[in-house]
Amino acid sequence: MSVETPTPEQHDVQPVNSRKQRLELYAPRTKIFPKRASGQFRRFKWLVMLVTLTIYYVTPWIRWDRGPFAPDQAVLVDLANRRFYFFFIEIWPQEFYYVAGMLVMAGIGLFLITSTVGRAWCGYTCPQTVWVDLFLVVERAIEGDRNARMKLDKAPWTADKIVKRVTKHGIWLLIGIATGGAWIFYFADAPSLLQDVVSLQAPVIAYATIALLTATTYVFGGLMREQVCTYMCPWPRIQGAMLDEHSLTVTYNDWRGEPRGRHAKKAQAEGRPQGDCVDCNACVVVCPMGIDIRDGQQLECITCALCIDACDDVMTRLGKERGLISYATLSDYRQNMALATGPDATIRPERVRDSATGRLVKRIKHTDWRSIIRPRTLIYFVGWSAIGLAMLTVLALRTPLSLNVLHDRNPLYVELRDGSVRNGFDVKVLNMTPQPGQVVLSLEGLPGAAMSLADDSKLVQQLTLDLPPDQVLPLRLYVRVDAEFVPAEPVDFHIVVTDTETARTSAVETSFAVPQR
Ligand code: SF4
Ligand code: SF4
Repeated sequence: MSVETPTPEQHDVQPVNSRKQRLELYAPRTKIFPKRASGQFRRFKWLVMLVTLTIYYVTPWIRWDRGPFAPDQAVLVDLANRRFYFFFIEIWPQEFYYVAGMLVMAGIGLFLITSTVGRAWCGYTCPQTVWVDLFLVVERAIEGDRNARMKLDKAPWTADKIVKRVTKHGIWLLIGIATGGAWIFYFADAPSLLQDVVSLQAPVIAYATIALLTATTYVFGGLMREQVCTYMCPWPRIQGAMLDEHSLTVTYNDWRGEPRGRHAKKAQAEGRPQGDCVDCNACVVVCPMGIDIRDGQQLECITCALCIDACDDVMTRLGKERGLISYATLSDYRQNMALATGPDATIRPERVRDSATGRLVKRIKHTDWRSIIRPRTLIYFVGWSAIGLAMLTVLALRTPLSLNVLHDRNPLYVELRDGSVRNGFDVKVLNMTPQPGQVVLSLEGLPGAAMSLADDSKLVQQLTLDLPPDQVLPLRLYVRVDAEFVPAEPVDFHIVVTDTETARTSAVETSFAVPQR
C-alpha cells in the first residue's frame, strides 16, 4: 500500500530586504534648498517662531520682586538652593510633584494636539523646527532663495562664495552661542552671570554648557536639519500610535488632483480626464523635508503646511478652489475618494465637479469642528484639565509653613533617673516664604509633656523660634513626660508649629515611645 505524501503549500512572496537586494537603513543626505513660501500657514509659522524665540531668549531677563530675601528673577532653577521659581510660584524639592504634574500635562497635551491636528508640534513649535527656520532665514538673507543657493552651492570657491559662506556660518555660530548662553541664564541670576561670563569669571560648567549647546544648535539646526527629524527623533514613530482616521493631517487630495498633468488644455482636447494638479512641483520646492506630499503620508512630513500655502497660491492663480493640498482627516479623504473613483477604480475628476458650474460638488466632505471636538480629544482634554485644576487647587491651598518630624529609631526612648521618659526627634521647620518669620512650637495630646532643645536643657511648654526666610530650620528636639504621666503604652500626639503673625499652623502626628512594663 503506497502512502501519499502531502504537498506543502507554496507561498508567492518576496522578502522585503534580502541578501540579493539589501536595502540601506541610512541613505546619504541629498541637500535640500527649500524655497521661501508665503501664505496663511507661513505667516502663522512666523508668528509662532517669533513668540517661541522671544520666550526662550527673554524669559531669564524678566524680573519678579519677591522681597529682599529671595531672587528677583521671574523664572529661575536655583540648583544650589534646590528651588524652582516661576513668577509667583516657588517650588521646593519635596514639592516635585508639581513638576511631575506639569510633565504629565505636557505628555497628555501632546496626545491631545497630535490626535487633533496631527504633528502640529513638529511643524510649528518643536525647537528643531524653529531653529532650522531661523537658520534658513539667515541662509536666505545671505545666499538668496532656492535657485541662488543651488547655484552658489555648485559654483567654484570664489572670494564671493567664501565671504557668503563664512558670514552664514559665523551668524549661525552666533545664534548657537546665544542659544547656549540663554540656557545658562535660567540657572543663575542672569545679569550677574552675564557679567561673569564676559569677564571670564563664570564657573567652568557655564562655559561647557554654552559650548555644548552652541555645537548642538549649529550642527542640528544648520548642518543636519531634516535629518534630525528623520533619523534621530523618536516622535515620528510614536505619533503613529496617536493618530486615528479623524486626526487632521496635511493631505494631497488626489481625488481632485489626479490624473495630474502639465497640459490641461491638450488633455481636454484629446478627451482625456485631467485633475487639478498641474504637476508644477511648487509643493515640493517649499518642503523643508524635501518630500513630495503627493506620495501620501510619510514619516518625514512634519505637517508644517508650507506645501498647502504653495499649492493654494497655484490654485488661486488658476482660478480653482484652494485646498488641493489641505488639512484633512483620513475618514473625509476616504469618502471623497470613494466619490471620485469610478467602477474601474480610477479617479474620474468629472465625478467631483459640477458639469454646469465647474465647481466641486456639494457632496465633497470638508473638515469641520467634528474632527476637533470628538470623544477621544474630549477625553484627553478632560484628563489634561483635571490634572491642571488639581495642581492649581493644591497650589492655592498650599501652606507656606511646613513641618517635618523624624522620631529617633535607636534608642526609641530614654528612661531618666527620676522616672520620667524622654523621646528624641529631628524636626525641620520649613519657611517657604521669602520673608523671615516667627513661629511657636508646641505639643498637643500628650499630658505632662514638656520639651527642650538639644543645645538648651531648659524644659518648656512652648518654644518661640525665629525662622530665616525661604529656608529650613533644623532642630534637635527632646520631649519629656513626667513620671506620673508616663503612659502604659506608646501614644500618638502632635507637634504643632504656629505662625505668630498669620496664625497659620502646621502639625505632624508622631508617637511617644515608652518602656514596656
Ligand atoms: S510635505 Fe508639506 S507639510 Fe509635510 S513637511 Fe513637506 S511642506 Fe511640510
Ligand atoms: S503645488 Fe499643487 S498643483 Fe503644483 S504640483 Fe503640488 S499639488 Fe500639484
